[in-house]
Amino acid sequence: MTVEQAVKDVKALQMQQHAYAHAEGMLYLDSVTQAPKGSAEARGKTLEILSEDEYKRFVNDEVRDLLFFLRDNRAALDAQTAREAEVLLEDYEKLTRIPMEEYVAFSVLVNEAQAVWHEAKEKSDYAMFKPYLEKLIEANRRFAGYYDAKAKPYDALLNEYEKGFTMDVLDPYFAQVKAELVPLLRRVKDIPVSDGFLYKSYPVPLQRKLSDELMRVMGIDRAHCNIGETEHPFTINFSKYDVRITTHYHENALASSMYSVIHEGGHALYELGTADALQYGALASGASMGLHESQSRFFENIIGRSEAFIDAVFPIITDLFPEQLSGVSAYDFFRAVNRAQPSLIRTEADELTYSLHVMVRYELEKRLIEGTLSVDELPAAWNALYTEYLGVDVLDDRRGVLQDSHWSGGSFGYFPSYSLGSAYAAQMLFAMRGEVDVEGSVARGDLEPVKAWLVEKIHRHGRMYEPKALLEMACGAPFDPKYYTRYLTEKFTALYSL
Ligand code: ZN
Repeated sequence: MTVEQAVKDVKALQMQQHAYAHAEGMLYLDSVTQAPKGSAEARGKTLEILSEDEYKRFVNDEVRDLLFFLRDNRAALDAQTAREAEVLLEDYEKLTRIPMEEYVAFSVLVNEAQAVWHEAKEKSDYAMFKPYLEKLIEANRRFAGYYDAKAKPYDALLNEYEKGFTMDVLDPYFAQVKAELVPLLRRVKDIPVSDGFLYKSYPVPLQRKLSDELMRVMGIDRAHCNIGETEHPFTINFSKYDVRITTHYHENALASSMYSVIHEGGHALYELGTADALQYGALASGASMGLHESQSRFFENIIGRSEAFIDAVFPIITDLFPEQLSGVSAYDFFRAVNRAQPSLIRTEADELTYSLHVMVRYELEKRLIEGTLSVDELPAAWNALYTEYLGVDVLDDRRGVLQDSHWSGGSFGYFPSYSLGSAYAAQMLFAMRGEVDVEGSVARGDLEPVKAWLVEKIHRHGRMYEPKALLEMACGAPFDPKYYTRYLTEKFTALYSL
C-alpha cells in the first residue's frame, strides 16, 4: 500500500460513512416530524439494512489494516488526514473492544430496561426498575475494563463522553460549584420575581414569526438551516450545508420556545461554522458533546439571557405581542427570564440551578460504579442530595431518581458534560471580552463580532482537536471552573441586588 493510495481510500471511506449517516439521519428526522404513525415497522426494515451495511463497511480487516497503516505513516500525512485517521481508529477500537456477544446482550438489556423504566416512571415504582439498573451498572463496570483496564472504572466511563475530563478534573470542579452556588441559591431563592406575563396566551403563529426573527438576529443562514417542530427540541446536521433545528411551541409559555430556538440555534451555528475542508469527513462536526453544549448554552444563557440581548430584541417581541406585554419593560422581561428557583426536574432547571442537578447525578453514579452505593440505597441518597443542594423535598421517585432516561439507556458518565458545557461557555465569555466588546455589540443587535470569535476559535476546527486542547487554545488558559462560578455570582448578585 502506498501512502497516496491509503489517503485516497480513507477519504472514500469517510464519504461513504457520511452518505450512510445522511440517509439514516434523514429517516430519523422524518420519523419525528412528518412520517405517519404507522410507518415505524417499514422504516425499521430499511434502517436495519443500512446500519448493518454501514457496520460491515467499517468493521473489517481491510479498514483495520488501512487505519493502522495510516497511523504508522502519520509523519507523511497532512494534519487533517492524520487526525481523521486517528479519530477513525478510535471509533474503530471503540466498536470492537467489547466482545460481540456482550455487546448484543447489552443491547437486549437496554431495550428491556428502557421499556421497564418508562412504565416504572409512569407508576413512580422504583422497585420495578431496580433489578435492571443493577444489571446496567454491572455491565458498565465490565465495559469500563474494556475501555481502559488501568483506569478507575468511572474514569474510564467519563472518558468515553468527554475525553480528558476524569474525576481528578471533575471532583474539584463540582466542589467549586457546590461551594459557590449552593449558598448563592439560598440567598436568591425566596426573593420574588414577577414573571406572570410570560404565561399569558401567545398564539403559535406569532411565536413562529418570533423564531424567524431570533434566527435572523443570530445570523443563522436560512439557506443551510431551517426550523421544524417536534415534541422535544433538537438539532441534527448532515453537513455544514444542511442543518435542521426544531422547537416546541407552548401557547401559554412564551420563553419556552424562545429559548429552545436560541439554544438549538447555538448548536446550529457551531455546525454551520465548521470549515469547508472538513466536510463529509470524520472531523466535520463538534469537538465533543460538552463543547457542543457550550455553544448552545453560550447563546441561550450568556447571550440570550443577558440584559444587552433583551434590550436588542424586546422591541421585536413587543411588536408581535403588544397586548400581552403592555406595561412590561425590557428590564422586567430580563428579570423574568432569569428567575432562579430550585426545582425537582433537571430539564426544567434555570441557569443558576442547572449544574446542581447535574452534581447530584455525578456524585451518585460515581458511587454506584465504585460500588460504595447500592441500588437499594439510591433513592434515599438522591432525595438527601436534593434537599442538601437545592433545598427541595423530592415528592416521589417519578420526579426523583426515575426522571432521566440516561441510566435506563445504559449511559453512566454522560451527565457531567451538560454542566461542563456551561462552564466552558463562561470561560469563553471572559476570554472573548478581552478581544470583543461583547455587551456593546449585542445591545446593538449585532452578534457578528461574537460569532466571528467563536468561528475563529472553536467552530471552524470541528473535531480537529480534543476538547481540553481546543478550549485551552481558544481561551489562552486551561479549563478553570472559577470563570463559571464568577460569571453566575456576578450576574445573580446584580440581578437580585444582593
Ligand atoms: Zn443542547
